[in-house]
Amino acid sequence: MENCVFCEIVAKKAPAFIVYEDDETIAFLDRYPQTLGHLQLVPKVHHRWIYELPDIGTFFATAQKIIRVIIPVLEADHVTLGTFGREVKHAHLWIVPQYKKEIGLQEGKQRQQEKPTQLAQLLKETLGGGVS
Ligand SMILES: [Zn+2]
Repeated sequence: MENCVFCEIVAKKAPAFIVYEDDETIAFLDRYPQTLGHLQLVPKVHHRWIYELPDIGTFFATAQKIIRVIIPVLEADHVTLGTFGREVKHAHLWIVPQYKKEIGLQEGKQRQQEKPTQLAQLLKETLGGGVS
C-alpha cells in the first residue's frame, strides 16, 4: 500500500530499529516509546486492522514468543498490549514493557529515543535469528 510507513519499513525503504523478523511479521522499536523496550509488531502484508489478519493466532503466538524473551532481558515486570491503530493505518500491536522497579520512565524513553542502536542490538541478539 502506498504512503504507508509500516509497509515502507517492511520493504526496508524507511528506517527502523528492527529487533525481530520472520516470513510473516516484523518487530521494531517504537519511535515514540511509552517505556523502555516499547515495540511495534506488524504483519508484513498490509491489513487495516489487526482483527482482519487471516491468521491472528500465529501473529499473537509470535507476540508471545517475543514477550517471553524480552521481559527478563529488560528486567520488566510484565508487558501490556495495545491495538489502537488510529495513527498508522496498518495493523500493529503495541508491546509495552512495564516495570515494577521504577527505572525512571523518562530515562527509559530517552534511552530508546536517543540511543536506539544499542537497545535494538541487545533485543535482536536475544531474539535470535531471522532478522536480516
Ligand atoms: Zn501498510
